[in-house]
Amino acid sequence: MSNIGSYSPNRFLDDGLQVVRDGSNVMLKLPFVGAVQCPDCSDSFTGKEWFSIKGSIVKPLKFKHQLHISSTRHICTICNVFISSKPSDHPCFANVGLW
Ligand SMILES: [Zn+2]
Ligand SMILES: [Zn+2]
Repeated sequence: MSNIGSYSPNRFLDDGLQVVRDGSNVMLKLPFVGAVQCPDCSDSFTGKEWFSIKGSIVKPLKFKHQLHISSTRHICTICNVFISSKPSDHPCFANVGLW
């Protein structure tokens, strides 16, 4: 977790945000619920698939907000852990049936 700075994962788990940005790191909570707000403006995004929502969030960070994003990390809100594998391989999400 050394690449996560001031915005600790524990704080992220406790708050109501679905996406936070800490420097060049972006953390996303999965599964997304409803509209997901950009961490840097009031834009929000919805979509059918988690990866299209994620793309809608991350692309404007790079191109609209001119930020360098070096990593994105995913937290499963069902078991409250960082997902180290591909999110689509995470066992919790098989039951959710979203993807
Ligand atoms: Zn934005
Ligand atoms: Zn899980």
